[in-house]
Amino acid sequence: MPARILSGNAIRDQIYAELKQEIAALSAAGIRPGLAAVLVGENPASQIYVRSKIAACEQLGLGSWLHTPPATVTTNEMLALVAELNARDDVDGILVQVPLPLQVDTKRVLEAVDPAKDVDGFHSMNLGRLVSGRPGLVSCTPAGCVEILRRGGIPLEGANSVVIGRSDNVGKPMALLLLHANSTVTVCHSKTRDLPQVVRRADIVIAAIGRPAMVEPDWVRPGATVIDVGINRITNATEAESIYANFPAKLAQFKKKGSVLVGDVHPSVADVAGAITPVPGGVGPLTIAMLMSNTVKAARMRREPSASKNTTNTAGSSSGTAAAKL
Ligand code: NAP
Repeated sequence: MPARILSGNAIRDQIYAELKQEIAALSAAGIRPGLAAVLVGENPASQIYVRSKIAACEQLGLGSWLHTPPATVTTNEMLALVAELNARDDVDGILVQVPLPLQVDTKRVLEAVDPAKDVDGFHSMNLGRLVSGRPGLVSCTPAGCVEILRRGGIPLEGANSVVIGRSDNVGKPMALLLLHANSTVTVCHSKTRDLPQVVRRADIVIAAIGRPAMVEPDWVRPGATVIDVGINRITNATEAESIYANFPAKLAQFKKKGSVLVGDVHPSVADVAGAITPVPGGVGPLTIAMLMSNTVKAARMRREPSASKNTTNTAGSSSGTAAAKL
């Protein structure tokens, strides 16, 4: 039986509906949460990402500001801009789109963001809070994966979860969130021995690798849940024909556009898994939704820091979302 599709678009719409209520309540109290985005240079992928984030702010009625320093910007200029945004009371969230140009000290810039406005959850203070289960802002992509699992009705407690990838922005926070949800977590990486065998033990597989279609159907236990974080653009015809041999619609799309998006999970895994996220339309929409959620959460926490003192840090979601109720 083909896997149940865990649609990120549908879950994003639910979260937006909840956020709109919370934004209306804040608005009634005279508060309009706002996000400042910093987009350096002319990287086309970054331009698309930032544009969709600003569009999401507009859709939800959040304030938004776009700063576009040139590709020649220096670390000191970036630090000055971050300091200015830290000081502004109308800015609740600061998003510095990465990658930054090589001459800029990215870590220094990201660490300069006020942790209370760090809506990407990249600051070491927020990562530390996540480790110790204290309230803070959590990286958007793993927080979005938890929303998909929770709202998709996938039991986390006691489940064997395998996270493939250990990056600071996806793999590591993902593993911590699953651990806080009482999952038994295994984290894999490029040095893991016999990866397919480890993945076969999983009830839940999270693939965050950056390798197109790497997770094969015979790696996945029948009925397991698979969350595909990967977004890889394929432009090579031979590769597209090999991955999508049994998917004529995708091949037609490739022939028309000259490229196609593929996750880190082979599309045929949908014949084995019990539930799976599509690419596109799976984790991607949730990453933006959780950025919006974090901006609203930051606006609330900055004004009433006591509101979250007794809660556990389980995801970067706002109060209405499922992950906050883990
Ligand atoms: P990353 O920083 O490059 O990390 C990749 C991880 O995968 C590393 O931990 C690496 O292991 C591991 N890995 C690489 N090759 C492997 C192999 N052959 N076997 C096992 N593990 C391997 O990437 P990332 O930022 O976490 O992103 C991962 C993927 O998610 C990418 O496709 C990215 O585009 C996508 N992504 C999507 C969203 C979204 O909104 N949907 C958001 C963020 C990222 P080592 O640590 O040993 O090198």
